[in-house]
Amino acid sequence: MPTPPLPARINPWQLAAEDGRLTGDLALDNLPRLMAIVNQAGGVVSIDLAAGKDAQGLPFIVGRLQTEVELTCQRCLGPLQWPLDVAVRLALVHAEAEADRLPDDYEPLLAPADGAMAVADLVEDELLLALPQIPRHADQRECEAHGYGAPDPAFIAEQRRPFKLLASLLPDSKRSS
Ligand SMILES: [Zn+2]
Repeated sequence: MPTPPLPARINPWQLAAEDGRLTGDLALDNLPRLMAIVNQAGGVVSIDLAAGKDAQGLPFIVGRLQTEVELTCQRCLGPLQWPLDVAVRLALVHAEAEADRLPDDYEPLLAPADGAMAVADLVEDELLLALPQIPRHADQRECEAHGYGAPDPAFIAEQRRPFKLLASLLPDSKRSS
């Protein structure tokens, strides 16, 4: 059975009632809040979500989102490729109060009973939540490759001068001994 194209908007309650699926690629250009904090233009997020009702009758949307964004490393200020593989586990709720009663393994998705919501908004929220607070290269050597912690060349020249001076003195001191 061919996969239906990714809709722009869904009614999450209806999707859950129909055991619907949301699969496909969405251009990151559709996610302006994310694009405002990443360095690249373009890219896609691969969406694979399934909706339904669990054994307790809770309507859910679960699955994963995969993409890669370019962030700025907060240690060396160099570019940092950041793969995102986000496990989505949402239970639909009508109101904030319902969210407190959810089992711990669900995150609440506040959704109006009759309203449609943009798939891009849902996806964007999940990606933003998955971003690191302070992105940094995992290995400090990568930061050093971007210039982090490398001594200033003028400083190195300054440091070498005494040794140069010492070297020029040595033959004299040897001669005098
Ligand atoms: Zn770095």
